[in-house]
Amino acid sequence: MRTLAFFLVVGLLLVGFTGCSSTQHQKGAYAVESPGDQEFQGPRGNLRKGNTRTIVLVYHNIVADASKAAGSSLTVKEFAEQMAYLYANNYQTLGLEELLTYYNGQSFPEKSVMLTFDDGYQSFYTLAYPVLKKYGFRATIFPIVGMTPGLERQIIWNEHLTFHELRTMIKESGLIDIGSHTYDLHYYREDGHPAIQRQNGESEEDYIYRITKDLRVSKDILELQTDQRVTALAWPYGLTNQTAVQIAKELGYRFLFTLQQQPLIPDTPLDRIPRYGVSSGSIKSFKEILSKGGAVN
Ligand SMILES: [Zn+2]
Repeated sequence: MRTLAFFLVVGLLLVGFTGCSSTQHQKGAYAVESPGDQEFQGPRGNLRKGNTRTIVLVYHNIVADASKAAGSSLTVKEFAEQMAYLYANNYQTLGLEELLTYYNGQSFPEKSVMLTFDDGYQSFYTLAYPVLKKYGFRATIFPIVGMTPGLERQIIWNEHLTFHELRTMIKESGLIDIGSHTYDLHYYREDGHPAIQRQNGESEEDYIYRITKDLRVSKDILELQTDQRVTALAWPYGLTNQTAVQIAKELGYRFLFTLQQQPLIPDTPLDRIPRYGVSSGSIKSFKEILSKGGAVN
């Protein structure tokens, strides 16, 4: 039984998180509201040994210069403090494989968190990765494939990871998983519609072709360039719809990540994985997010 029946999306999922999201409301779209915490009080009664929840966090850019930190851009100092906190409090970081194992077992470690990084900024390699390596923490990166140096499908507003850097991190650490953040669906059109949405005048057939091509190409390129099997996809701005979800699943994407701010529980469908955006600010707000995971520090 899906206790979170409202997860089912009729139109677009709109989740308000600064940085990689939009507050623009599209026709036929609605915002998914978070239920109260009582919704997560042990959907199954036999999970006393472990935890019925885990928390998936999403980061974007990490900066060295404090004057450039705002919204979803954290300073490396803030990020390092958060990782030190997780380490000191015995949090286990989950990669995709661990996530699936615990999810299938319907019980998560007492304290666990999944660290994801959207857009594929090069700051992951230069600033975040050294911190993660120090603690042996796992992370999953979702690059916008068409913004990888050499491809540049869109105007680049920030430095992005090269395939060489991705390969290096995957091979040398064994800590990094990779997923698609689409090839070229990470933008809004001039008419205000997100690229993932069917456009005015676009036939259903053309729409399906466009989305299929993008999701297939981004998966193929990442697999060829990293020698990893790509089964995860993070929707740009957390936006999607039933048709796009169906296409992604048919192409072999098993883990679909949104920006709904909720814990992940055993009843959460893997094609609706919620994530909490981490913003620049005090460690207090970070601890508040972690508290949604049910563990007491
Ligand atoms: Zn993004």
